[in-house]
Amino acid sequence: MALSSLYQSPPVDDSKQPDYINAVCQVNTHLTALELLHVCQAIEKKQHRVREKKWGARTIDLDIILYGVQVVASKQLIIPHPEMMNRAFVLVPLAELEDDLKVPVLGPIQELITKLGEFELLKL
Ligand code: ATP
Ligand code: CA
Ligand code: CA
Repeated sequence: MALSSLYQSPPVDDSKQPDYINAVCQVNTHLTALELLHVCQAIEKKQHRVREKKWGARTIDLDIILYGVQVVASKQLIIPHPEMMNRAFVLVPLAELEDDLKVPVLGPIQELITKLGEFELLKL
């Protein structure tokens, strides 16, 4: 339904990896949240995702940030994404798609962005 701009930012762990490129897209789907996760994982596999360690460089990473107003807390899937409030590269592109979004549990998107303080993010 909608795709944000691309955003470039340094890796979260300050290691000497190259910068990351992130974006947020909005989709309409008949899939459940868990089915959608499995589709995302199948796409990652098809794109030959390779990664050595947690938060290490990878070819592609598809996360579910939100699923409407649904809240999920299972072993395989947590929605809202548990790190979203700490990540400018998630919040800023998300706000580009819906600037008055109320994030379930977490609150208004603009307040979440304010709480981040300073961040390094380049809109491409
Ligand atoms: P991060 O979660 O910090 O963004 P990551 O994306 O690098 O880290 P992965 O190795 O890609 O982590 O995913 C690990 C597991 O996280 C997946 O196997 C999946 O079951 C689980 N997971 C939980 N919640 C979500 C979510 N909202 N979107 C995608 N994966 C999730
Ligand atoms: Ca991720
Ligand atoms: Ca992931």
